Amino acid sequence: MLFSPSERSQEIKARVMAFMEEHIHPNIPRYRALDESGNPNDPEGLAFIQELRMRAKREGLWNLFLPHLREDEPGTGLSNLEFAPIFEEMAKVGWAPEVFNCNAPNTGNMELLNAAANEEQRQKWLRPLLEGECTSCFIATEPAVASSDATNYETSIVRDGDEYVINGHKWFISRALHPDCRFGIIIGKSDPDNPARHAQHSVVVVPFDTPGIEIGPDLKVLNHHSVGGHPEVRFRDVRVPAENLLGEEGGGFAVMQSRMGPGRIHYGMRSIGMAEVALGMMIKRSSERVAFGKRLYEHGSVANDIGRSRIEIDQARLLTLHTAKVLDEVGVKAARKEIAMLKIVAAEMLKNVTERAMRVHGAMGLSDRTSLVGLLGAAWTIGTGDGPSEVHLPTISKIEIRDHDPVAFEKFYPSPSD
Ligand SMILES: Cc1cc2nc3c(=O)[nH]c(=O)nc-3n(C[C@H](O)[C@H](O)[C@H](O)COP(=O)(O)OP(=O)(O)OC[C@H]3O[C@@H](n4cnc5c(N)ncnc54)[C@H](O)[C@@H]3O)c2cc1C
Repeated sequence: MLFSPSERSQEIKARVMAFMEEHIHPNIPRYRALDESGNPNDPEGLAFIQELRMRAKREGLWNLFLPHLREDEPGTGLSNLEFAPIFEEMAKVGWAPEVFNCNAPNTGNMELLNAAANEEQRQKWLRPLLEGECTSCFIATEPAVASSDATNYETSIVRDGDEYVINGHKWFISRALHPDCRFGIIIGKSDPDNPARHAQHSVVVVPFDTPGIEIGPDLKVLNHHSVGGHPEVRFRDVRVPAENLLGEEGGGFAVMQSRMGPGRIHYGMRSIGMAEVALGMMIKRSSERVAFGKRLYEHGSVANDIGRSRIEIDQARLLTLHTAKVLDEVGVKAARKEIAMLKIVAAEMLKNVTERAMRVHGAMGLSDRTSLVGLLGAAWTIGTGDGPSEVHLPTISKIEIRDHDPVAFEKFYPSPSD
């Protein structure tokens, strides 16, 4: 592909790839054993990941995703365009981004805190995440309401003197069961009677050692528990200091926006790395197996699947790079359409490529003997998390319709009466 990443991006990518070769790949069986142990949040089992994290930090392969790092903050912040080819490589191993402190939901939370926190909050909540001292979670989705419509969130966040009191029930809160999860960023209703539905919600930081928080049970996703989990979290009269409010009271949606753009573009970058793995597996398997006197890839439909997958991956990569450039140059708000398009394309592309790879692997493709089922789960998660594709499509069409110029269009197809 005729795209030349900056020299800095190329240099860091080479170092990330060398780090992965030396420290991540040899630990894949260890991570898999932890993942399948039935106790993926065992602190002793997780210790090797924290060791790898501190090694990556010492080597400066840290916080690569965050363009706005200050001089006194740790890491090597890159622009989105510089980060894209690097994250693609990292994402080839599902847990590797965490080693470089580039994993969700911390990335989105760091973006949010970077945009919305005042100096005191920055030191208290952002700095420990940047340093890798703890992890965090993002707390939005609720079992009782359709959470793809964020104005539905019902959890109450009510001001009482110098405190906010939180009551509500959330679920699918990724990483909340991680032993290092120190706090969550929660959105709920602070002004339910406000006639403007987008001015009813506020966002606050809630430390996890506050009385009244109940974490669990965990929810299996595609029948699988993962590190950190995706549990239910209940809040019963949970009191946090008023200074934990992020942004303005009633300004919850503006605050949320700051995590959505970068978070969603990371889905695009990740999906490409994962799809490259699936395509590689497809080619390998189809060159090793013979059916009806031919290698599998010599059968037309398998060859077509390989070709179609390359087209879709490269299309997604081009859209990712374009979206990264728009995000870097004009910001989240102006990149809304591209970000929405990318989220949909990434999920569909990864699903298509993975399903083709599964088919080529026959029965084994559906089993735990390959990582393909996990990749299919990732495709579904990308298509659902931070709002399902059905919610992002209308954003695209709304902008298309708004920008349509009937006069300019008319001259190409004058009506018969003209
Ligand atoms: C693995 C995983 C991790 C997650 N991690 C987190 C997390 O850390 N924190 C968090 O807060 N949440 C998390 N989520 C939850 C996720 O953000 C929500 O599931 C998502 O926003 C959809 O909300 P819902 O499940 O309530 O679906 P609903 O809102 O009930 O929607 C159900 C379905 O209705 C359809 N639909 C909805 N709106 C429209 C529309 N406008 N047009 C047409 N069809 C529509 C879609 O098919 C949609 O899938 C996670 C989810 C998964 C799967």
